[in-house]
Amino acid sequence: MDFEDIVIGSGLAALGAAIGLEGSRSVLVLGGPAQGQFSHYDGRATVPSSYLGDGGLGNDWHGVIPTGWCNAYDPRDDEAYAALFRRFYPRTDPRPRLGQPWLFVPWRPIRPRLEFARLQQERAGKLTLAPELVLSFRASRAGVAVTTAMTTHRARRLWIAAGALHTPGLLERSLGQGIARGLVSDHVGCYVGQADGLQAPAIHRNRDGAFFQAWQGACADALYTLRPARFAYRTLDHGIEQRAVFGLPTGSAIAKISKRMSPGLLAEAFYNRFGLFPAAPRHSVYAQVLVRDAYAVGAAETALIAKDGAIRAATDAARAHAPFAGVRVSQRPELTIPGIHLHHSVDLQSLARAGVGDADFPVQVVDASVLSEIGPEHHSFKMMLGAVARAQRAVRLA
Ligand SMILES: Cc1cc2nc3c(=O)[nH]c(=O)nc-3n(C[C@H](O)[C@H](O)[C@H](O)COP(=O)(O)OP(=O)(O)OC[C@H]3O[C@@H](n4cnc5c(N)ncnc54)[C@H](O)[C@@H]3O)c2cc1C
Repeated sequence: MDFEDIVIGSGLAALGAAIGLEGSRSVLVLGGPAQGQFSHYDGRATVPSSYLGDGGLGNDWHGVIPTGWCNAYDPRDDEAYAALFRRFYPRTDPRPRLGQPWLFVPWRPIRPRLEFARLQQERAGKLTLAPELVLSFRASRAGVAVTTAMTTHRARRLWIAAGALHTPGLLERSLGQGIARGLVSDHVGCYVGQADGLQAPAIHRNRDGAFFQAWQGACADALYTLRPARFAYRTLDHGIEQRAVFGLPTGSAIAKISKRMSPGLLAEAFYNRFGLFPAAPRHSVYAQVLVRDAYAVGAAETALIAKDGAIRAATDAARAHAPFAGVRVSQRPELTIPGIHLHHSVDLQSLARAGVGDADFPVQVVDASVLSEIGPEHHSFKMMLGAVARAQRAVRLA
């Protein structure tokens, strides 16, 4: 064997697997092409859906880590959550907030490139990073052979973290047809409306970041946040009309559009990032809503076709059950923003039939393609936590 472990991907899920493989003799991370490429939700190219290249979408994510546990998944373990959190934010103890819907917004999001470099230093020669694109792999109980555009690497175990849009194709090329669902679930951001006289959200800042208060209501698929409505954003729907145009740009695009930002959007951006001036006579109510099978996947693996009916039904339900009194409801319910929390793109039964999940099968998928339920909260940190736990378990059992 060339390596004990191979990880496909260099984003947050891959980082989780690599962290968990601390006890492995040798780990090779195949991170995708050196020259990376974004895909977008639609032709307007305002919101990215994947990044095929070093660091994945983790180069641009906002780093928001939720502390609620609704629909939380493997592992349901506060200590493991706190240990991973404190690897990145050592001055913050999340444990007192676990189980409540707070959102931690860090001053410095976890960046996979930096963290892989840090791991390489810690692991002294046991971790190799290679900017290679994997074409397919072969697996048997004896190990795996992973073919890239350059060569074939062999290892005892394989960890797949190619992201929700690229993993299904990789699995089908390697294990056979029927594994890609052709559908993918996501969060959608929607504007619920406005309300006057609400108490400002609680915000607790420390040296690592700020915890923002969030809310859950009778609609279990929605997570609600309040933002002060200032300037033109005091007018119902003005904010969502503008945000729907700007989308959710990546860091490099922010500088370009900031020149065109209205004072209302700027005020919201400062609030979102730093929690500045939360008290206001009027608040906008937003919801992040889980939409199961929000998109069909088209001919190319990154081509997404929005299922407008599913998105509308989920956002209408969130609007109908907002946990605030006196909300003037949005008159533009068709305007939504993709959440970039794509997940559940792999058919779990087909994957199991191909052997993935058997105790002696050397392949595990650790990204969001196999998460069938993420609840209403941002999922990425919990996805990483799951990857850490599974890798640690494999090393322990070896
Ligand atoms: C602007 C923005 C803000 C966000 N904010 C948040 C947030 O606050 N909180 C939150 O929870 N989430 C957030 N997200 C979502 C978060 O970024 C993603 O959920 C997360 O980064 C996905 O990580 P991943 O490792 O599963 O996949 P990806 O980041 O997509 O990484 C996939 C990796 O696999 C590699 N790869 C793919 N195919 C191959 C192949 N064939 N061979 C080799 N390598 C391959 C790619 O190069 C890449 O390195 C945000 C996203 C964006 C864009």
